Amino acid sequence: MARYRGAVCRICRRENIKLFLKGDRCYSDKCAFDRRGYAPGEHGQRRRGKPSDYGIQLREKQKVKNTYGLSEKQFTLFFEKAERQKGITGTNLLVLLERRLDNVVYRLGFTHSRTQGRHFVRHNHFMVNGKRVNIPSYLVSVGDTIEVKEKSRTLSAITDSLDAVVRRGLPQWLAIEKEKFKGEIKSFPIREDLTLPMQEQLIVELYSK
Ligand code: SF4
Repeated sequence: MARYRGAVCRICRRENIKLFLKGDRCYSDKCAFDRRGYAPGEHGQRRRGKPSDYGIQLREKQKVKNTYGLSEKQFTLFFEKAERQKGITGTNLLVLLERRLDNVVYRLGFTHSRTQGRHFVRHNHFMVNGKRVNIPSYLVSVGDTIEVKEKSRTLSAITDSLDAVVRRGLPQWLAIEKEKFKGEIKSFPIREDLTLPMQEQLIVELYSK
């Protein structure tokens, strides 16, 4: 299945949680989840029945997949990669997803959302270790530096986002020199760094069937 391209606020309402997919709007009183905290669609306000185990696992997978804006195929590839690594598969999966370049530029505050991060990476606004990288799924490593290209530093979307990042806070595994438009990967994230409530073991159970 391709990546979901509809109204993203429906995803938060469907998953019954704020996933912060729309940047500043998520912190304003325009947030659709705050205004209509029930499932989307004609029957959204009906009481939700008790979901099956499979239903719970599926929803958890959809939540994580949509948070990072991946297609089904991309998500499965990440899961398989996580399975091949040593350690706990669920944690490996989340760490791999966090290491994506489109996520890192969002976490550093260069973009308002991961979706915008993906667009800006594709449009060559960033350099990794001094070289142009325009692949959103590029996995950063410890010690990598991520820089906004000289010509892109006046873009209001980037400067506004850098001002707004204070509200989101910078994860401890990243460092930033705002005046130089430059960030660094200090370490890989650990599970405690990922604050959105995600039950990754449910995804592992889903894929184990
Ligand atoms: Fe979700 Fe943000 Fe839309 Fe609110 S504004 S429903 S948090 S994407």
